[in-house]
Amino acid sequence: MATYIVLLLCFARGVMSCDNAVTRDQWGARPSRGINLMSTPVGFVFIHHTAMSYCFDQNACSQELRVIQNYHMDNRSWDDLGYNFLIGEDGRVYEARGWDRIGAHTYGWNDVAVAFSIMGNFNDRLPNDKALTALKNVIACGIKMGKITHNYKMYGHRDVRQTECPGNSLYALIKTWDHFGHTKPIKPTSSSQY
Ligand SMILES: [Zn+2]
Repeated sequence: MATYIVLLLCFARGVMSCDNAVTRDQWGARPSRGINLMSTPVGFVFIHHTAMSYCFDQNACSQELRVIQNYHMDNRSWDDLGYNFLIGEDGRVYEARGWDRIGAHTYGWNDVAVAFSIMGNFNDRLPNDKALTALKNVIACGIKMGKITHNYKMYGHRDVRQTECPGNSLYALIKTWDHFGHTKPIKPTSSSQY
């Protein structure tokens, strides 16, 4: 019995928590100008990098999110920060549009995909282990919460758009992951205006 309890505790500790993303309030987000909901679970995951600053603690990452949100809302005139979630090299996941909102991250795919963007430029180096673990965990959480399908396909932004994103090093890594889509993605016919 004692062994059983110890095992159970170890197991519980090993399971990631799915409600520990840094919320919009916590990083100081501006209100969104509009909200469009998408139907979930989605079958596509797109990986991005911000190609901007790296950040290694919650204060710096929160500051960076505010910079990116201002850029997306003021310079690009989007309703909000474009990605669904961002990830810092502090190992934290930051909520942007969240699981249920159509983003502005991967033109033509925004209403059928969720996008995770790691903060920094990953052409010449990989994100640290903390950030990569956070990315894997948040995808696992998305599946557990019914927001991402079990048989989802993962792509880099560059697979559907002329861009360096998510950077050469990060792209080479995600190509080795199980869910990476080695054939061109085929868009569901329901997707149109995003
Ligand atoms: Zn991108």
